[in-house]
Amino acid sequence: MILFSNQKTAFATCLGCQDAPCVFFKESEITPANFDGFPVNRCIDVCATGAIRIGDNGLPLIDNEKCILCGACASRCPLGAIRLVAGRGAVIEVAPNEAFLEATNSDSHNAELMRNLFQTLPTEGVSLIESDDIVNEITSKIQKAAAVVGDQFPNLLTRNLLISSGNNAAISRKGNNFMRMDIVLSNTMETSGVVEVEFGQDANMEAPRDVLDSIAVLVSRYNWTIKNTASFIVTDLLPNRRSEYWHIIQDINNVFGIKIGTITIFCLMLLNWNRKKLILLKNHNFYADRAIDSYRAEVLEPLMQRKLKLNNLPNPLVDIAK
Ligand code: SF4
Ligand code: SF4
Repeated sequence: MILFSNQKTAFATCLGCQDAPCVFFKESEITPANFDGFPVNRCIDVCATGAIRIGDNGLPLIDNEKCILCGACASRCPLGAIRLVAGRGAVIEVAPNEAFLEATNSDSHNAELMRNLFQTLPTEGVSLIESDDIVNEITSKIQKAAAVVGDQFPNLLTRNLLISSGNNAAISRKGNNFMRMDIVLSNTMETSGVVEVEFGQDANMEAPRDVLDSIAVLVSRYNWTIKNTASFIVTDLLPNRRSEYWHIIQDINNVFGIKIGTITIFCLMLLNWNRKKLILLKNHNFYADRAIDSYRAEVLEPLMQRKLKLNNLPNPLVDIAK
């Protein structure tokens, strides 16, 4: 439901934006502001599974068979015209209503003006409330999508969710062996970010070392400073408490003063569903190491500013299991 400045309310309807931010990223969003020469993968698709495209009528169209409910497209629609429906997928509201007729019936200039009006309003609201059923649904959808899209899927999905949560994010072109880092982030010229994407418990062990490797290259060859670099690891499941992973993360902080954050792909989706921004800070607020009691209570719920509506059984998507 949209509240207009004249206090009228209406359900949002797709205006058929010329640039379709729900379907395509801008070139600037997929290019790092701080790294000339990074071999950027130029894919501008917002949807990592290829579920959303422009239809013959010029409006975006979603294939719910492919949709994994990640929320990237929905959080980029300035009108809130994309709903996330559990058990189905993302749905675009296209039914006209009185409040939107003027914009949809007129030229693209007026549609742009209407959109800008919305962009002056605070973007709040939750597009999907988490539940245990949704966790199960998404886990199986992600597995299927990974099999179809192939080995670029974790990096593409992570990049797209990071952009949707307010950063520029670049992944390197497939086949490039010179740049080891998976993703380079920037949202201001002051703080930059480097991200390792590691799915699978065994791969997690290598991730902290890969982050250090990337930081060394960026600082020594590309004029980054450790002081202004945020680094983190995106994974599918949090390693369990006995894993050496949390020990290594703590050692790196103790010896080098570098806090490497850890976040799961599901937590990135949660941020998108709740329209939270991921803010790049060196001492960022998703740092966790072996001293932490509960990732969910100490890292995730403070980020969400509320308790999660999930049962309290250990779930490696949102917490560190024993
Ligand atoms: S769904 Fe939203 S962002 Fe996409 S074209 Fe329609 S109004 Fe624009
Ligand atoms: S919610 Fe995610 S997977 Fe579904 S259409 Fe939108 S971007 Fe694609």
